[in-house]
Amino acid sequence: MKITEHISNAKGKTLFSFELLPPIKGQSIQGIYDAIDPLMEFNPPFIDVTSLREDYIYKEKENGLLEKVAYRKRPGTIAICAAIINKYKVDAVPHLICGGFTKEETENALIDLQFLGIDNVLVLRGDARRADSAFIPTPGGHCYATDLLQHVKNHNNGKFLHEDVEVAYKSDFCIGVAAYPEKHFESPNLKTDFRYLKQKVDMGADFIVTQMFFDNTKYKEFVNLCRENGINVPIIPGLKPITSSKQLVSLPKVFHIDIPEDLSEAVLACKSEKDVKEVGIEWMINQCKELVDFAAPVLHFYTMGNPEPTKRIARAVF
Ligand code: FAD
Repeated sequence: MKITEHISNAKGKTLFSFELLPPIKGQSIQGIYDAIDPLMEFNPPFIDVTSLREDYIYKEKENGLLEKVAYRKRPGTIAICAAIINKYKVDAVPHLICGGFTKEETENALIDLQFLGIDNVLVLRGDARRADSAFIPTPGGHCYATDLLQHVKNHNNGKFLHEDVEVAYKSDFCIGVAAYPEKHFESPNLKTDFRYLKQKVDMGADFIVTQMFFDNTKYKEFVNLCRENGINVPIIPGLKPITSSKQLVSLPKVFHIDIPEDLSEAVLACKSEKDVKEVGIEWMINQCKELVDFAAPVLHFYTMGNPEPTKRIARAVF
């Protein structure tokens, strides 16, 4: 079922969902089930599965020079989605990214997703490779989320990269896009970033999922800005509790978000990492309760493979 339908069927009740990372290659699907099982009691209508671009390693050639070789560390987004829908009978939402895929590969992925009966996709530009300082589009691939969005819209309209005279069909993907209440880090200002978000929605995005935030004011102001500017699709808040003191540095560095002073002071005052986890969970429970009061359509958790903190938060909120 489409995410927009799940939300309208809920009639204003806030839903619960979460996101998973494909495991490092070589692991088995059991790791995915172990990350999902503890959270099924909260009836997630959908589960997201992220996608990771290939990275580089440097190999020494016979002549002693170094050769750059691309490799994939976390394969399997589509396969994991197929396993989820089969085992749990919930919707799985694959993240589709521009980086690392040619347009043909994207088209093949859409054909596979339609075949599997997957109804929703989250379209993203994707992160830069670790070895690159900025995002470099893949030759023959898409540059921005808007380009990928157009590709999915074309697929939905039965317009394919290569017309097939024997097979005619239209997909009907419900399309989500990302947004950043504290602005995307490459954007010069919130207004410019917002303009591109508006473009994504005007092109047909059906729902928005936000970057994580720790100050609900940022989300509320962002939702208000969207509504004032004619963005009326559901805006799903992305959430992640702080679980270690190191995250005071790593989360702002990686995700370009602020951690409110009250929260950072409380973490710094902790005597142990166990206490930090308690502070992080408590903060997130309060944030979630307020978001429910604000009528957020879904609370969407970035579990990063660790379901336990999310489980405690969901038990306190739902
Ligand atoms: P875009 O919407 O393409 O925006 C990228 C930047 O370019 C922004 O600064 C924007 O303002 C600007 N821009 C947009 N369109 C144009 C245009 N036409 N011309 C000029 N500038 C433009 N990354 C992954 O690699 N895998 C994942 O699975 C993944 N999942 C995510 C899920 C969520 C909910 C979020 C919030 C992020 C996720 N990311 C993921 C990270 C995301 O890919 C990065 O933040 C990336 O840098 C931007 O992606 P985007 O889709 O927002 O890009």
